[in-house]
Amino acid sequence: MRYPEHADPVITLTAGPVDAYAKVLRSLGRTVLYDYDPAFQLFYEQVVDKAQKAMRLSTKPVILHGEPVLGLEAAAASLITPDDVVLNLASGVYGKGFGYWAKRYSPNLLEIEVPYNEAIDPQAVADMLKKHPEITVVSVCHHDTPSGTINPIDAIGALVSAHGAYLIVDAVSSFGGMKTHPEDCKADIYVTGPNKCLGAPPGLTLMGISQRGWAKMKANQAAPRASMLSIVDWENAWSREQPFPFTPSVAEINGLDAALDLYLEEGPEAVWARHALTAKAMRAGVAAMGLSIWAASEEIASPTTTAVRTPDGVDEKALRQAARARYGVVFSSGRGETLGKLTRIGHMGPTAQPIYAIAALTALGGAMNAAGQKLAIGKGIDAALAVIDADA
Ligand SMILES: *Cc1c(COP(=O)(O)O)cnc(C)c1O
Repeated sequence: MRYPEHADPVITLTAGPVDAYAKVLRSLGRTVLYDYDPAFQLFYEQVVDKAQKAMRLSTKPVILHGEPVLGLEAAAASLITPDDVVLNLASGVYGKGFGYWAKRYSPNLLEIEVPYNEAIDPQAVADMLKKHPEITVVSVCHHDTPSGTINPIDAIGALVSAHGAYLIVDAVSSFGGMKTHPEDCKADIYVTGPNKCLGAPPGLTLMGISQRGWAKMKANQAAPRASMLSIVDWENAWSREQPFPFTPSVAEINGLDAALDLYLEEGPEAVWARHALTAKAMRAGVAAMGLSIWAASEEIASPTTTAVRTPDGVDEKALRQAARARYGVVFSSGRGETLGKLTRIGHMGPTAQPIYAIAALTALGGAMNAAGQKLAIGKGIDAALAVIDADA
């Protein structure tokens, strides 16, 4: 076997966590300053300012010191009370999963659930809000990563805002890879992180919170305080004048600083464009090779992850193992309901480069051939190259 399991692979093309930018890796090695040293307090304030700029926020973002699942659970715990009527929108494993957290804090849970290769239709949300004027909180996952599909959160956010309800958005695997910002979708809590499209390691949550989101959380006596799940505790931590409630993850902040610099210096529009082009080339190659994407239509296919449907009779796990063993290329599996049904190729941060679509198609095609599928790999490569070169 060329690439045994105990050795690092050659290319990690997962749907997150992703391999980090080299510059981010180097910045993780910066001095670990004492968190109360004035130099660190100033640095932290500057990192929050950069995050605010990247997220195009009018309020200060909050950093929580655990990977984004912490932020999502904290959002449910802090914003939702037993009096709330929550409408959870589920088009995949993450969207569905948020409903379980919501249910922990309010017994009143309504749900719109669609098949996990489709997206939420804003008209269905409009109808539900009309039918249930008592809805006070709506939750939605932007890019349901285990499906590689995108929900129209800006349209949904406009409806929720007109209704007067609060909106919680999971944008963990879309922010930084496509045009999405907390205020574009009128989110009251918008959760993302550095470990997907920003190309940094897992370990932090970034949150955009509206004025009214803050007011509701602070009025909620049951919102976590003096807890790792607390958002409220961290409200003023951005200021060099304010103490941290707990020790921040200093090394991760060093990495986030470099990731934000890279994003802002390259220019968000340029970053989104290379994510979109890589995914477009990938989809063209997948189709030309004789495979299909998981998403019900190209329009809802994610620019940051391509989910490829597993052909009948192919063992998906063996397929990924073959790609890794033969070519040293790592893909992601599905999760929960999509496990075994699809293979995911991430185009996130450093791997959102068109040439990685070619590498992914080659490794995927080779592994499919090994699994007995006779695919037209050359045609797939030609089609992907045509997309890439048409953009040059
Ligand atoms: C990655 C991701 C998260 C964070 O959860 P993990 O523990 O890293 O899986 C949350 N939501 C979405 C949509 C994600 O893609």
